[in-house]
Amino acid sequence: MESVLVVGVGFMGGSFAKALRKHGFKGKIYGYDINPESIAKAKTLGVIDEGTTNLPEVKDFNLSLVMLSSPVRTFEGIARELKKYISSEAVVTDQGSVKGELVYRLEEILGSRYVGGHPIAGTERSGVEHSIAELYEGKKVILTPTERTDVKALGLVREIWEELGGEVEYMTPELHDYVFGIVSHLPHAVAFALVDTLIKLSKPDVDLFKYPGGGFKDFTRIAKSDPVMWRDIFLANKENVLLAIEGFINSLRELERLIRGEKEEELTEFLREVKTKRMEID
Ligand code: NAD
Repeated sequence: MESVLVVGVGFMGGSFAKALRKHGFKGKIYGYDINPESIAKAKTLGVIDEGTTNLPEVKDFNLSLVMLSSPVRTFEGIARELKKYISSEAVVTDQGSVKGELVYRLEEILGSRYVGGHPIAGTERSGVEHSIAELYEGKKVILTPTERTDVKALGLVREIWEELGGEVEYMTPELHDYVFGIVSHLPHAVAFALVDTLIKLSKPDVDLFKYPGGGFKDFTRIAKSDPVMWRDIFLANKENVLLAIEGFINSLRELERLIRGEKEEELTEFLREVKTKRMEID
């Protein structure tokens, strides 16, 4: 590859750029971001070689690869503009947390050289200053090729992720959103809701936030994640997130029933079964 453009030079965009460098990429790494501060920080930290807040400037960059790393609901608008300024040979991929319909819409705009991707790696932190070169090592990276995806583009994207230490797995865009709606988006929704519960149940004379122990803090660490990013994810994967929330409410209702009815044996059995299942994934 000659040169790479990272769109959205935040935590994930910065991590991708750093990982490329760490693994010996010798070409130029450019950044595009709407926020001039992101570009300035990324340049100062040496994460990108050059950056711009003016998308048309990327036409001079001779790009081989574009990595979309901004919030998911910005991808379509950016792709429409970007298409005017990159060669038809340039491969476009992304790190967005939602795929589904978005993959087909991006294919409509960019054609077969677009490859949907989602590294299952991250933290609750935002911004290029927190980016990590080793972020993807030993982590799953889901690619969501369709019938239309160009085989060479898919091969290149797969090769890059494997070079950066990722373990590539393919899924359909629909399956991706079902799986991650439940295993990732639901826990974030629950963490936000749990903190909200403490806000609502605090009384004028009792500030519940004075008392949380390690359990509450561990459980709700992800509620410190970026609100705009999570708003976009919840709305972009609306149907699966709603299905997951409904499943969770049903499980809570079941727990409620067992506690209300003081069903000691059933309650122990419920908790034991859940504990066993949870321990299997450590
Ligand atoms: P971030 O807030 O750290 O960075 C996002 C960057 O995008 C910021 O610099 C922001 O200025 C820029 N941006 C916003 N709107 C833009 C636009 N219209 N055009 C250009 N730049 C724009 O967020 P992040 O954590 O790096 O997440 C980025 C993407 O990665 C999201 O799509 C998210 O779904 C995905 N993702 C995040 C994680 C995670 O744990 N953080 C994990 C996997 C995937």
